[in-house]
Amino acid sequence: MRKIFITSIDGQTVTLTGDSHAHLAYAMRSRVGDKVVLCCDKIDYDCEIIRITKNETVLSVGDYTPVTTEPELDVTLYPAILKGDKMEFVVQKCTELGVNAIIPFTSANCECRPTAVRVDRLKKIAEEASKQCGRGIIPNIGEVIDFPALLNELSSYDLIVFPYENAKETDLKSFLRSASKVKKVAIIVGSEGGFREDEAIKIEEMGATAVSLGSRIMRAETASVAVLSALMYEMGEWRIKQ
Ligand code: SAH
Repeated sequence: MRKIFITSIDGQTVTLTGDSHAHLAYAMRSRVGDKVVLCCDKIDYDCEIIRITKNETVLSVGDYTPVTTEPELDVTLYPAILKGDKMEFVVQKCTELGVNAIIPFTSANCECRPTAVRVDRLKKIAEEASKQCGRGIIPNIGEVIDFPALLNELSSYDLIVFPYENAKETDLKSFLRSASKVKKVAIIVGSEGGFREDEAIKIEEMGATAVSLGSRIMRAETASVAVLSALMYEMGEWRIKQ
């Protein structure tokens, strides 16, 4: 069944324009009478195409079902910007793993320019991955922020997971096991060049604890996926929902 994410639904019919219309009418070659699922804020609506014109597709709205696949944990991933398709890998895999938002940031050892990060393309990848794995929302992909802006954002989380290659005292497992009743979590992962020591200190001053992922140094894109997986697992998100 074709699924399209939309941002608002208010009435018995929905009119799609722009990309969604082009996707249905031209890419998918839809016809009047075709069934489509429109997903809006964790609710799937069974819809039927009732009119297609050059600039819009109109659908009638039928039954709806709440989407139950969203995690209870609200996780924002802050990955330092990475070159080429590594950022796309992170967005695709972390969408499947249930991230709520991904906000890339710049830091001293980044080998990539902020302007090289194609946020529009990353949003499309998040949308495709959301459809593929049956999510009820598309994770929000933010514009690239600088390091001071990253620090500013950190005060709004219950827990900050900060994998740091030079962490010597705490490992991820003991850190996650000591955290309880968290709802809003941030994960901060460094670039290929890692964190400069002064940056790590500043992140810790914001209430984060640097944690180790063990004795092997993972590539940055692996670390993002690994930490999000471990967090979801440890917080009980990998379970059968009744
Ligand atoms: N160039 C650095 C490594 C950077 S790895 C060096 O050689 O030391 C990229 C990012 O992945 C790190 O900044 C950290 O956030 C995470 N990471 C990878 N392996 C890790 C590990 N074993 N422990 C903690 N963090 C790790």
